[in-house]
Amino acid sequence: MLKGKTALVTGSTSGIGLGIAKALAAQGANIVMNGFGDVAGPKAEIEALGVKVAHHGADVSKPAEIEAMLKFAAAEFGQVDILVNNAGIQHVARIENFSVEKWDAIIAINLSSAFHATRLALPAMQAANGGKGWGRIINVASAHGLVASAEKSAYVAAKHALVGLTKVTALENATSGVTCNAICPGWVLTPMVQKQLDAKAKALGISNEEATVQLLQEKEPSLQFTTPEELGALAVFFCSPAGNNVRGVAWNMDGGWLAQ
Ligand code: NAD
Repeated sequence: MLKGKTALVTGSTSGIGLGIAKALAAQGANIVMNGFGDVAGPKAEIEALGVKVAHHGADVSKPAEIEAMLKFAAAEFGQVDILVNNAGIQHVARIENFSVEKWDAIIAINLSSAFHATRLALPAMQAANGGKGWGRIINVASAHGLVASAEKSAYVAAKHALVGLTKVTALENATSGVTCNAICPGWVLTPMVQKQLDAKAKALGISNEEATVQLLQEKEPSLQFTTPEELGALAVFFCSPAGNNVRGVAWNMDGGWLAQ
């Protein structure tokens, strides 16, 4: 379905971004990966799906590096048809104790990076398909883009704002073939959440299994993690013809978190 298209997925060396990159690759899209840590392993996993893969190591907290990444993607594959703004970090502390550096980093990585990548990717998307436009911008927000939890001020602020940016992007392109939507996962067992589980187990003096049960019981009626594969399937839906007129939604996949 996506053969001949190119998807740039920020933060796709790990977790949800890797899951989304693999789901788009399985539909035939070439992938521009981004993110830190091990690149060779995840790159090989995507390449095994029979598509071309390139990696750019931009630090998405830096606008100039995002611009270099978009130029790299265009040089490698001609254009970016699908942009997935996924890179994100977390920091947990009460506001009065919240590190100013962490606040700035979370706003830059979880929010401003999406603005910069979007503004740079939009012109080519708007010009595609003989000027009628074709493009998909998918912002990975969070259940925390729609409701809050204590001790996550920067993350909740960034994700709420990302949902707002999603709506504006959708509206500004509503008469074209460019859509923009947000995905709002509940808990997904990735390295980001593993860190929070380890901290909870340590703070309460309980096992990792007990900490997992407590974490899920607190928010998710399903008592199950959402998986990167399930989130990848939702991203594929947004890119499918059935998603042509889905514009500006914030779609939670959260085990019932927000139904409460
Ligand atoms: P993860 O830690 O497994 O992956 C994060 C990715 O972002 C990695 O590839 C990392 O290298 C990359 N990254 C971090 N800082 C970067 C930077 N400055 N520049 C470029 N890349 C950078 O985390 P994850 O759980 O897969 O999270 C992915 C997204 O999903 C985040 O936006 C997160 O907020 C969101 N999310 C996660 C959950 C969850 O439960 N795991 C729930 C809701 C939303």
